[in-house]
Order: sequence, then C-alpha cells, then structure tokens
Amino acid sequence: MLEIRNLHVKLQEEDKVILRGVDLTVGAGEVHAIMGPNGSGKSTLSYVLAGRDGYEVTEGSARLEGKDLLDMEPEERAAAGLFLAFQYPVEIPGVGNMTFLRTAVNAQRKARGEAELSAGDFLKVVREKARTLKIDAEMLKRPVNVGFSGGEKKRNEILQMAMLEPRMCILDETDSGLDVDAMKLVADGVNALRSDGRSFLVITHYQRLLDHIRPDVVHIMAAGRIIRTGGPELALEVENNGYADILSEVG
Ligand code: ADP
Ligand code: MG
Ligand code: MG
Repeated sequence: MLEIRNLHVKLQEEDKVILRGVDLTVGAGEVHAIMGPNGSGKSTLSYVLAGRDGYEVTEGSARLEGKDLLDMEPEERAAAGLFLAFQYPVEIPGVGNMTFLRTAVNAQRKARGEAELSAGDFLKVVREKARTLKIDAEMLKRPVNVGFSGGEKKRNEILQMAMLEPRMCILDETDSGLDVDAMKLVADGVNALRSDGRSFLVITHYQRLLDHIRPDVVHIMAAGRIIRTGGPELALEVENNGYADILSEVG
C-alpha cells in the first residue's frame, strides 16, 4: 500500500534536515503506529506524504500502490487514496458541513474521472455512513467544526474519512488533548473503517490509543529515522520505560 524508501527531507527555506532516511512499508489492510519523542519528524513525514509546501525531498521515494506520491499535487494524492487527519481540525465559519463534505467528495470523484454525486444521492450516502458510525446527522447542518467539542471534531474527521473512502489513512496525533471517551471514539471510527483494502498510519504519543486500535506494527521514530520496529508490545515498552532505553541502545 505505502512504500517509503530512504526518505530524506529538509526545510525549503533553511538548511535544516528533518528526515534522515525513513524506511517504511505498510501492507494492504495493515495498521501501523508511529511513536517517538517530540521533534523527531513524525508530523513532517505526514506533511511530506500529503504534499504540504515548505519541504524539499533530497533523497528517497514514497509510493502509494506503486504510484510515485512525491510526483503528485496534493489533490492528486488525495484522489489516489491518501487521507491525512490533522492534529487540530480547522473551523470554517459560514460553510455548512454538508456542503463541505459534498464539495470534497465531488472534487475527488472528478479527479478520479467519476461522475459527481447529485444532492440526493450524496444525502443518502452521508446519512448511511453517519448512521454506521453512530454520528448524529444534526452535525451535518452546522458550519464545519465551528463550536464543535473536541469529541465532535473527531467524529467529524472520521465522517470525512468515511466519505472519502481513502486507501491509506494517516492520523497525526489525532488523539492529542482528547479525553478517554473522545479517544475511544477515534478508535471506534478507525476500527469501523478498517478493511483489507485500507491501511492506517497512526501517529500517537499515547499507548492508550493503541489499546483500542490494535496495531499490527509499531515503529519508533527518533531524529528523523525509524530506529525500532516491533509489535504492539513495543508501545507498552515505551509506556513503561519511556524512550531513553531504546535511544541509548541505538546510540
Ligand atoms: P514531531 O511531529 O515528531 O514532534 P516535527 O515533524 O513536528 O516532529 O518536527 C521535527 C523537527 O523539525 C523539529 O525540530 C521541528 O522544530 C522542526 N520543524 C518542522 N517543521 C518546521 C518548520 N516549518 N520550520 C522550522 N522547523 C521545523
Ligand atoms: Mg510534535
Ligand atoms: Mg507532530
């Protein structure tokens, strides 16, 4: 699904190197978690994959189902099936949630060469997905994220993800600042959307999220590289001992 090889990235404006040879392979249907100390480059990795400005790839590659991601515009990456959920969802006053979702879905369909959904068809799909995810349809009528609680923003993000039907979902510290109930919501949403043809990269500080989203593989990132890969037990090790042991092992 996702294959990252020896990825090196620096800031465009300064000579600051952030990623120093990231290697990561996520198979179809797999859930991988990335943990790691602050400043190790986790967010940078997700931004570079999504195509955000300001970064320069100096070496390496990133492929989504064999297609060169780094060669695509951000919207082409989304059309190819990449979805990035942000740590802080933006509020868009004056734009109804329903309008926003429909615009996003139809832009993606257009980029894929598919016919746009009519208002009626869209409504059917969005209601069905909201019901499956146990999301109150009332939320669809409000402006995007305006006045939403932390939990509602997360629900909304999961709904966006469900509507766009991505192949590869990246959640970057989407659990930050969430209480246990909201964290559980995110986990339930991810678990509901898990399937053989859809993979997840979950970036998190908290082992607790991984109690609910059982990852297949856990990676530890530090100083711009993945320094350790293991199973769910690796997250427990970090929870109990912090990163110090792992960091000193790899020098
Ligand atoms: P993480 O998500 O693991 O906490 P980040 O990817 O946010 O790490 O940051 C990695 C490093 O790169 C940090 O030292 C951070 O300060 C730096 N960095 C990232 N983006 C920028 C930027 N736009 N300008 C300056 N420094 C940046
Ligand atoms: Mg950080
Ligand atoms: Mg980060």
